[in-house]
Order: sequence, then C-alpha cells, then structure tokens
Amino acid sequence: MTTTATAPQLTDDAREQMHALYRHLHAHPELSMQEHATAALIEDELTALGIEHFRCGGTGVVGLLRNGDGPTVAFRADTDGLPIAEDTGVDYASTATGLLEDGTPVPLMHGCGHDTHVAVLLTVAKLLAGAREAWAGTVVLVFQPGEETAAGAQAMLEDGLWDKAPLPEVVYGQHVMPGLAGTVQYSPGDAMAMADSWKVVLHGKGSHASQPQDSTDPIVLGAHIITRIQTIVSREIDPRRAAVVTVGTFHGGLKENIIPAAAEFTLNVRTFDPAVREQVLASLRRIIAAEAAASGAPEPTIEQLSVFPRNYNDPAATADVVGALRQALGQDRVEEVEPLMGSEDFGALGAAIGVPSVFWLFGGHDAATLEGDGAVPMNHSPFFAPVIEPTLSTGVRAALTAVLSRVGR
Ligand code: ZN
Ligand code: ZN
Repeated sequence: MTTTATAPQLTDDAREQMHALYRHLHAHPELSMQEHATAALIEDELTALGIEHFRCGGTGVVGLLRNGDGPTVAFRADTDGLPIAEDTGVDYASTATGLLEDGTPVPLMHGCGHDTHVAVLLTVAKLLAGAREAWAGTVVLVFQPGEETAAGAQAMLEDGLWDKAPLPEVVYGQHVMPGLAGTVQYSPGDAMAMADSWKVVLHGKGSHASQPQDSTDPIVLGAHIITRIQTIVSREIDPRRAAVVTVGTFHGGLKENIIPAAAEFTLNVRTFDPAVREQVLASLRRIIAAEAAASGAPEPTIEQLSVFPRNYNDPAATADVVGALRQALGQDRVEEVEPLMGSEDFGALGAAIGVPSVFWLFGGHDAATLEGDGAVPMNHSPFFAPVIEPTLSTGVRAALTAVLSRVGR
C-alpha cells in the first residue's frame, strides 16, 4: 500500500457520512432476495460517485470502478437482513417488518451485520474514486443479496456476473463478528464450513392409534432414521475429519390417538472436505431409504433446501493479504484463527471462475463487552450490536489495504 500524500484517506467527513449511512441501513433491513430499497440506495450512492453500475441477480448491484490499465480485483459485500425482532436498544434500532415467501409477517433486523459490510464497501468506493492517482486498474464492487439463504451468490452467477463484469484476479470479502473492534481474524485454507439443508418427508399409512396393524407409522420410521443418521459422524467418517449432522425440526401428527399418514423433518450438514461432504450425503440417502424399506414404507421424499458452498482461502493470496493487513493495522491486530463451522456463499463467486478468494473477519465489539460477565451476543442474536467505531473504520482500512495491495501504485 502506498503511503504518499495521494493515498485514500478516511477523513472525518467521510467517516461521519459512513456512520450516517450505516445507521440508515441498520434501521432499514430487508429480507434475503427482497433487498429492493437497499439496492436502490447502493445505486444512488454509486451514481453520485460517478461509478458505473448494473443490477445482477435481482437485488444485486455491481459497481465497476475503472481507473485505467492495471489489475482487476473484486470485493463483495452482502446486503440482506434477517427475520429477527431487534432488542439491542441502540437509537438506530430497526422497527421494520417484512413478509416471508409464504406471506408470514416478520420483524426485521440487520442481525448479521451486513449493514456494516455495505457501509464499508461504499466508503471504500468513495475513497478510491477520490484518490485516482494512488492506484490503477479496476475494482469490481459486488453488492450481493441473499447471503442468509445461500441464494444470492448463485443468483448473481446465473445472471452472468462474470460475463458482465471484467474477470478479477482475486475476490475479497469480509464479515463482522464478535471480536475486539480494531482487529482482524483469518484462517488460511478452509475459512468456513460447507452447509447442506434438506427437508425429508416420510410417507406412511395413517390409522387409529388402537389399530397399529393397519398403519405404516411415519413417526416410528422418523425416530429410527433420526437416531441412525447420528452414526454417520460417529461410525462412518474418519474421526480426523470434521462433520456435523443436525436434525433441527421433526413434525408429524395432530393428536395422540391418531397415527398420521406422513411426518417430516429437516436436517443440516456441515463439512469442510468435499469428499467428506459427498460421503455424508450418500450415507444420509442410504439410511433414509433403507429405514423406509425396513418399515415397509415408500421411499421418503428428499427436498434440498439450501447448499452453502466451500469458502476456501487461497493460501498464497491469503498470505499476501495478511502481510499487508499486519503492516496497516499492526502485527498484533491480525490473528490466525480456526475455521468457522458457520457457512457463507461468498466462496462461490471466485470458485465459479477459478480465481483465488480471501475472506476475513473483523471484530465488532469493545473490550468492556468482550471481557464483561455476560455472554457476547453472536451474529443472528436479537442483541447483536457491533460498536460503530472502531469497527467500521477498521473494515474500511482492511478492505482498502487488501485492494491497494493489488492495484496500488
Ligand atoms: Zn448471518
Ligand atoms: Zn452474515
């Protein structure tokens, strides 16, 4: 990163504008793939900066910040909120509501901090646009919808993201997390787990509770499947490889004296190694089908609910970013951590074109919160409330540092 007088600087004015933008975004969250007002706001900001942009994947927006010949890098910020009733008590808390796909009204909250990602990337765009002598090349600003449902990155790719935008040599992304504001965390190699979610519908034969001989009981079948699939991790997977199989819901029947005709459950799988993922999913299919056969039931119906792809940090590109971040933020402010079992669809953007990607975390909490007696509210908690500073300024510095490590003069 250059340190000449022309280097992009986060001035007090720019910082205040970023805070105002962040408070506005925080108070106006939208559900995944419904980020209409957020997309319009991003378009207005890019237009005001003179940055060309286009819609991609519905509510996705891509800005193309061109500055002559040079490398092309992409930076992604996700834009969606969550159906959570905010309980943070901050004066810019959300009171917004929205409708789930099935029409259910829900309260809305930026409970994963994607508002910080948007405010930071728009600020980075502004600083780069205002300091064109400091760099050369193209920065592709990817404002991605629908991260929480794993729909957004895929929607942008299917809408031709990389046909419409110049191909980058690297894709960067970052996420706010509980951690000391002012610090950055990273994992070389796997950054986060892949995640697969399924709905499984068990087909049986209903009967009066007193006439089990006339039934094929889907609840007993479900109980066997749910118990047996726990042996995939404990008995089938190499214990040196990580895997999680969780059944999050199990529903069947309406009354204790009726055997229902059907039941259903949903499950969630987390893995890091693509071969382990294949093995777990194959074992699930085998056990579900075999237990149904053992019950004399028809084969259950499996519906895939979501697939979160691999989020893999290219080791060489990560080492480059980490070196630059340590110089910019300080050695002790950039920390290597274990990969997260949580998931992200960020990795799909670089994987789709075979270019390396690097994804890091930045802390959003002050020392008093982290060292206090209470539990620190995680992302997706109604109490998740990043401190505005130094969280946002650190996000800007980290993003600028990574981008300028490629395009800086
Ligand atoms: Zn989230
Ligand atoms: Zn998130």
